[in-house]
Amino acid sequence: MKGMTMNYVYAFEDGDGKNKKLLGGKGANLCEMTQFGLNVPPGFVITTEACLAYLDNGSSALPDGIMDEVRVQMQQVEAKTGKGFGDADNPLLVSVRSGSALSMPGMMDTILNLGLNDETLKGEIAQTGDPRFAYDAWRRFIQLFGKVAMNVPDELFDKQFEEVKAQAHVTEDVGLSADNLREICDRFLKVFEKHTGRPFPQDPYEQLEIAIQAVFRSWTGKRAVDYRREFNITPEMANGTAVNICTMVFGNRGNDSATGVAFTRNPATGENVLFGEYLVNAQGEDVVAGIRTPKPIAYLSREMPEMARQLEELRQKLEEHYHEVQDFEFTIERGTLFCLQTRNGKMNAPAMVRTSVEMREEGLIDTAQALLRIDPTMLEQMLYPRLDNKAKAKPIAQGLPASPGAATGIVVFDADRAEIMGKDQGRKVILVREETKPEDIHGFFASQGILTSRGGKTSHAAVVARGMGKPCVAGAEGIHVDVARRVAEIGEVIIEEGDLITIDGSSGNVFLGSIPMVEPDFTEELNRLLRWADEESRLKVMANADSPTDARRALKYGATGIGLCRTERMFNAVDRLPTVIEMIVAENSEERQAALDKLLPIQRDDFRELFEIMAPRPVTIRLLDPPIHEFLPTENQLEEDIARLTHLQESVDGMSVLASSVMLLADPNEARQTSDYLRGMVDASLVTRAIEKKEQMLRKVRILTETNPMLGHRGVRLGITFPEIYAMQVRAILEAAADCTTRGLDVHPRIMVPQVCTHEELRLVRKAVDQIHKEVEQASGQPVHFQFGTMIEVVRACMRADSLAGDADFFSFGTNDLTQATFSFSREDAENKFLPMYNRIGILKDNPFEVLDVKGVGKLMKLAVGWGRELKPDLDVGICGEHGGHPKSIAFCHEAGLNYVSCSAPRVPVARLAAAHASLRPEGFFNDR
Ligand code: PEP
Ligand code: MG
Repeated sequence: MKGMTMNYVYAFEDGDGKNKKLLGGKGANLCEMTQFGLNVPPGFVITTEACLAYLDNGSSALPDGIMDEVRVQMQQVEAKTGKGFGDADNPLLVSVRSGSALSMPGMMDTILNLGLNDETLKGEIAQTGDPRFAYDAWRRFIQLFGKVAMNVPDELFDKQFEEVKAQAHVTEDVGLSADNLREICDRFLKVFEKHTGRPFPQDPYEQLEIAIQAVFRSWTGKRAVDYRREFNITPEMANGTAVNICTMVFGNRGNDSATGVAFTRNPATGENVLFGEYLVNAQGEDVVAGIRTPKPIAYLSREMPEMARQLEELRQKLEEHYHEVQDFEFTIERGTLFCLQTRNGKMNAPAMVRTSVEMREEGLIDTAQALLRIDPTMLEQMLYPRLDNKAKAKPIAQGLPASPGAATGIVVFDADRAEIMGKDQGRKVILVREETKPEDIHGFFASQGILTSRGGKTSHAAVVARGMGKPCVAGAEGIHVDVARRVAEIGEVIIEEGDLITIDGSSGNVFLGSIPMVEPDFTEELNRLLRWADEESRLKVMANADSPTDARRALKYGATGIGLCRTERMFNAVDRLPTVIEMIVAENSEERQAALDKLLPIQRDDFRELFEIMAPRPVTIRLLDPPIHEFLPTENQLEEDIARLTHLQESVDGMSVLASSVMLLADPNEARQTSDYLRGMVDASLVTRAIEKKEQMLRKVRILTETNPMLGHRGVRLGITFPEIYAMQVRAILEAAADCTTRGLDVHPRIMVPQVCTHEELRLVRKAVDQIHKEVEQASGQPVHFQFGTMIEVVRACMRADSLAGDADFFSFGTNDLTQATFSFSREDAENKFLPMYNRIGILKDNPFEVLDVKGVGKLMKLAVGWGRELKPDLDVGICGEHGGHPKSIAFCHEAGLNYVSCSAPRVPVARLAAAHASLRPEGFFNDR
C-alpha cells in the first residue's frame, strides 16, 4: 500500500485495488480505476478495519484519529476539485456509500449530496444558476440522511412530498417548480427535527461523521445479518464494511448531462457490443427507480456523439484492465464522462460461455481464465428447460430438487395412465406418485417430469429421472397422494387427475398451472469450451447410462465411456419385467433357469447395442444389484388384486348361473345362442389361474420381504446365492463382445460386481467369470478382452481394498451406498426427515447424498485408493455414485487421485468443466472451502 502513513483512510490514488477485504469491493475498484487512469470523481475509502474497530468499541464513537485522517483526505479532494467542503460560495458535495468485500445488495442505501446546508445551498444556487436543481439536491439529501443515518421513516417524507405535489396540481416530479421544492425542503427539515428531536446538522463534518457511523452500524443491522446468513458469508469472506466517500457529479445539470448503467458486452447473449441504457438530465436513482424510461445506449451516438465515443473507449479500457465483462455506472456532467463504479458482470450461462470463447480468441484471457470464470453448475441452464425468472409464481409445495429442469403437464397418478395419455394421446403429463418403482418406467418415458411425495435424491425416481434428463421433484412430503381416489392433497388444495401443474426439479418447487419457461441451448461454443476443458483435465468423465438413448446422449455430451450401466434398469421395459419377476420369485433352479434362458438373448442384444454405440470407449456393466423390493409388487397391492379377482370370480360364477337361467326364459334356439354367448364372455379358469398366480407371488413376496432391503439380499449376495443369474449376465456380456469383435469393432467391456465386502465374494465371481470367458473364447475362436472390477460401496470393502485389488482391475466407488453405510443414514429417508434440519442448524454443512462428505466418506475413499494402489499401482479408480456429477465432489476426486468420475449423461458437461477446474486450481484450493 502506497500511503503507509494513513491507518484507516486511503485516497483512491493510494488504496490497493486488489485488497477487497480491507477496502471492500466497491472501494477497491474505485482505487483501481483511478490508478489505471479512468475518470473517477476524487474521493477516498475508510477501511473495513475501521468498521471493526468502531463496532468493537460498542459503536459509541469512531476510533481515535479517523476524523483527522478524513479531514486530511477531504482537503486533498478540495484541492483536486477546486471546491470547498462547507464552502458557501463553491461547495463540495460528496456521496457516502457502504461496500464490503462481497457485494451485499440492499445492505445499506447511499447518502447523496452530503455537505449541503442552509449556506452551501445558496452557494450551489449561485454556482449553478439553477435553484430548482439545488433545492432538488437538498431535499434528496435531507430525506436520505434522515432515513439512512437517523432512521426517519420514508413515509413521513413521502407524505409531505405528495401533499406539496397535490397543492401544486402536478402529477410528475419533474413538474415541481423551484418554489415547490423549496417548500418540500422546509417541510422535510421539520419532519427531521420532529422525529429525531434535533435540528438538521449544519456542519458538513458533523454530517459526515454521523453518516460514517451509520454505515458502519449497518454491518450489524438485521438486513445485513440475514443476508450473510442466507448466503453463508463467513467473516473469512467479508468482515465489516468500508465507507466510500466520493465527490458528487451530476447527471441532471441540463441536456449536456446524463447518467446510465452499461455492460461491456450483452449479458443476455454475450454479444461483443456495449449494452445498457441512459437518461439525459437525470440522476442515477431516476434510472433505478424507473421514474423515467431510459434509452438504449445505441441512441447516445446520436444525442452526444463525443460522449458515445468516450464511452466506447471506457468499455475497452475496462475490459483490457479487468479481463472480464464489466457492469459499470457512468455519469456525464456537462460534457465530462465519469466512471462511478464497476464490477464483474453477472450473465446467464449462454452469455458466459460465448464471452469465454470470444475473449479467449480475442487474446483478452487465456484458456485457464476462460474455463475458471464459469461456475460449472451454471452449465445446467444450457441443458434443461428452466422457469423464466420473470414469472413470479408462488409454489404450492416443495420437495427435493432431485433432477434439474422444469416441466409442465397434466397430473396422472399411475404409469399406465401416463403412457396412455402421454404416449398414445400425445399429451404432456407429469407422473405423480408416492414413490416410483421399476415397473413404472414406461410412465417415465411418457412423462415430462416426475413428482413423488417420498424418497430422496438417490431414490429410484430421482436416479432414473436424472439418467433420462427429465425433471424430478422427490420427497415433497406436503403432498398426500391418494391413487385410489385419483387426487393429491396439499393442505387445502386438491389436485385431480388432469389438472395442470408445473414442477421445477432445479429448486424442488411445485406450482399450479403452467409457468413460462426458457428452452435449453447446447451451443457450438459450449462444445468448444468443453474441448478446452478436456485438454486441461486429469480426471476422465464417463456416464451412468443404462439404455441406448442414454448412451447416445452421453456421447453427445462428451462422455469418454460408460462408467456404470445398472443392468437391473435394463429390465424395466413392460415386456421384460414379468420375466425378471419370474426369475426372482422362482421356486427352484429349473424355474429360474427357464426365466434366465429367456433373458439371455435379450441381454446380449442390449450389451451389443451399447458396445456398438460406445466403441471404442469402455462400457462398465454392473451385474444385477436390485434391492429386491424395487422389483416386486407390494404385499398390499397383491392383496388388493386378489380381492378384486375373487370378486370377479363371483361375477363370473353369476354369469354362468345367468347363462343356464336364460334357457328358462326364451325360445330354445335363441336361448341357446344367448347362453353360449354369455358362457364365452369370461373364461372362468382364466380368473382362477390368475388368482393362483397372484397367490403364489404373494407367498413369495412374504418370504422375500426384508425389513431393510437396502441392506438385504442384493448385489453380489444375490449373485452368490443364485449363481445362474450372474452367469447369464456374464455370458451375455462376453458373447456380445465376441460378436462385436468378430465384426471388427474395438470394444472394451468392463464387468463390475456390486456390494462386495469380502475378497471371497469377489474371488468366487471372478472364478465363474473366467470359466465363462474361456467357454466364450473357445466358441467364438478369438480372444475376447474384458476388465473385471468391483464397486467399493460398503465400509468393509474400503478396509479390505488391499486384498480386493488382487482380483480387480478397477475400483468404482458407489458413494450413494457408501454414504448410507458410513453415516448409517437411510438414503431413502434421510433427506426428507432430519437432514434439512441438520443442515439448517449446522450439524452438517451439506447434504451428504449430494455433496461428498470429504471428512468421513472421503477419508475412507482415500484409504481405499492408497491400499488398493499399494498392491496394484496402476489400479484404475473411479466413482459412479451421484456425487460423480457434483463439482465440489469432483474436486475432491481429483485430489484423491481418482482416474475418472461417472455421472448421469446430462451432468457430463458440468463434470467436464469441474474436472478442468480441479486441474487448474492450485493444490489445496478446495480444502479451504
Ligand atoms: C452407489 O451406491 O453409489 C451406486 C452407484 O449404486 P446404486 O445407486 O445403484 O445403489
Ligand atoms: Mg449402490
